[in-house]
Amino acid sequence: MRWRMGRRSTNVEDRRGVSLPGRAAGGGIGLLVIIIIAILLGADPAKLLNDITYTQVDPTSSYDRAALSEEDRELADFVSVVLADTEDTWSELFAGNNARYREPALVLFSGVVESACGFAQSAVGPFYCPADRKVYIDLDFYRDLKERFGAPGDFAQAYVIAHEVGHHVQNLLGISEQVRNAQRRLGEAGANRLSVMQELQADCFAGVWAHNADRARGILEHGDIEEGLSAASSIGDDRLQMETQGRVTPDSFTHGSSRQRVTWFKRGLDSGDIESCNTFESKNL
Ligand SMILES: [Zn+2]
Repeated sequence: MRWRMGRRSTNVEDRRGVSLPGRAAGGGIGLLVIIIIAILLGADPAKLLNDITYTQVDPTSSYDRAALSEEDRELADFVSVVLADTEDTWSELFAGNNARYREPALVLFSGVVESACGFAQSAVGPFYCPADRKVYIDLDFYRDLKERFGAPGDFAQAYVIAHEVGHHVQNLLGISEQVRNAQRRLGEAGANRLSVMQELQADCFAGVWAHNADRARGILEHGDIEEGLSAASSIGDDRLQMETQGRVTPDSFTHGSSRQRVTWFKRGLDSGDIESCNTFESKNL
């Protein structure tokens, strides 16, 4: 992916190395969220709790960026360029529909992070919190992507951000709220199906971004699409569940299967049009 000449975003919040304030020590709702997510992901909550350590820090103490490795600095730089590119691309697409794109923030963290959606641990992977309109990512996830899930490459990393920004677009378009409202009326299986549709649409939006960014700035290099597809297929719920539980349980899918993720990413990538991303009306996902 050609990215070095790209613009850097001003919306990156670097919270790496920042410990959570002591008031988190009691646990509460945030901790509950972590435990629930951990159970959903098939982790052992008791072990997880041991892994979570909250430390009391002086909130004014500054974090020593010099302690970051060259690789970490470069990754943060890369993330900033990809985020800026999503800002430019989505601003244009929104403007084409006489709407204004409000840019999300992206928080880099390490270990545990506090968001308006509660506390989250790195193990949950990158996520978007609609309540504060921020994307959260621990860059260690990229090491996992490469080493555990066999999806290396800078475009695979860009795809992950573009997917989370896709959730932000859903939030701005009111789709996330509609899904939440509909889910309240449905049983667990029905609510899960809607979650899958929402996830696959975010994949499709990631493809829409790649299509338009490439047309405007020629970012794609030979092999990039394959990297994106490989990331899409390697972090499908069937693969994730195989990794964490050793079996696949379709009813608890919340991201869609590997094949579905590839299909919808490609649909957005080929068309470049968000109209092609209506996963909710699609008869065969
Ligand atoms: Zn998602």
